[in-house]
Amino acid sequence: MDMKYYSTNQQSPAVDFREATINGQAPDKGLYFPEKIPVIDPDLISNMEKYSDEEIASRVIMPYTGESIPGDKLMQIVKETISFPIPLIRLDESVFSLELFHGPTLAFKDIGARFMSRCLGYFVKDVDKKVTVLVATSGDTGGAVASGFYNVDGIEVVILYPSGKVSPVQEKQLTTLGKNIHALEIEGTFDDCQQMVKNAFIDDEIKKKRFLTSANSINVARWLPQQFYYFFAYKQWPDKNNPPVISVPSGNFGNICAGLLAFHSGLPVQHFIAACNSNDVIPEFMRTQKFESKKAVPTLSNAMDVGNPSNFIRILEIFNHQFPALEKMMSAVSISDVETIAAISDLYHRYNYIPDPHGAVGWLALKRWLEDHEGTKGIFLETAHPVKFPEAVEKYTGKKVDMPITVQEIMKSEKISIKMKPACEELKNYLL
Ligand SMILES: *Cc1c(COP(=O)(O)O)cnc(C)c1O
Repeated sequence: MDMKYYSTNQQSPAVDFREATINGQAPDKGLYFPEKIPVIDPDLISNMEKYSDEEIASRVIMPYTGESIPGDKLMQIVKETISFPIPLIRLDESVFSLELFHGPTLAFKDIGARFMSRCLGYFVKDVDKKVTVLVATSGDTGGAVASGFYNVDGIEVVILYPSGKVSPVQEKQLTTLGKNIHALEIEGTFDDCQQMVKNAFIDDEIKKKRFLTSANSINVARWLPQQFYYFFAYKQWPDKNNPPVISVPSGNFGNICAGLLAFHSGLPVQHFIAACNSNDVIPEFMRTQKFESKKAVPTLSNAMDVGNPSNFIRILEIFNHQFPALEKMMSAVSISDVETIAAISDLYHRYNYIPDPHGAVGWLALKRWLEDHEGTKGIFLETAHPVKFPEAVEKYTGKKVDMPITVQEIMKSEKISIKMKPACEELKNYLL
């Protein structure tokens, strides 16, 4: 049976993987969600070391892509998606770092962006209009999407980012490629960018001119492959009888949502921690059961400066909107910048490990949980390379972070962006 995706708003028809990927968001503005969550073959779980990463990843994703992508094509896409190492690094007997930053733009978003760009590239072969990927970024999405889609035939990419609120490396990664990649520098916040994108998607005039799709983590083709590395983490986990607690630095909640999906498919995980910075909408929700979006506040871990985490609805969907079940499996904590700074320094001095600010938030949240739960061991996801945040990292570790050659090259290239006020009309005029 081919997997169908329904809209979380229930007002749009269910579609297959291909259509969900091309649409991005459902016409009723809901998010697509799989009609049922597949169960992973228990043999794959209990004998994971025997399987290659490609094999694991393709078996995880195949039930979701269904008939939309033939098996050999899917294998090729999976191979290109995970063409870099994802090591689990042991800091001590109970704390491990899953390094997700060894991809081309040094962030975990490379995995989702690469998978999605290749799926979309495959799907648009038989669409006659030019496809425009429209995306708002709080930092890392832009670079990963730009790199993933660079030179993909038939696809234009338009990226909105908040001026002055992304790091220099991040900015260069999304403004220097050129060709089919266009960067709009918005004089506002990430939430402004996201609002502009949302409005463009429901604007009939724009839709007549352009075939728009999103590459944000709401797109199923970006969201679902993020499950891969939770399986790879378990493959490398040394204590299979004592499954890990996993702490996920969270902003828009796509990453942790993929982890929870993997868990529901049968991956052994003891507990998930959503590690947030001062943007504490979800920690507040877990406390009060009230979802109140807020204006995002800027922090050191800027890729998590999100005041209205769009993927959280999918987490509620996974748990059938049953709060007790959710609470049992997921906690959420808010870590301030002051605590983040202390964590960066602490990680360096305890373990000689240099984290980035997002990873530091994840580690501190994990450390607190482990202290409260004797006998538990855990993993924090290191979601970005520290070189992307050199100021914070060098200041609080006292150590210079070496730039990989690829980043040195990018830093030398010229930034090309179009400055824009945070107004929906401005974006509309540009797109028309
Ligand atoms: C995007 C990002 C996050 C947050 O991930 P979500 O899926 O939005 O929760 C965390 N860390 C880094 C480095 C990121 O780029």
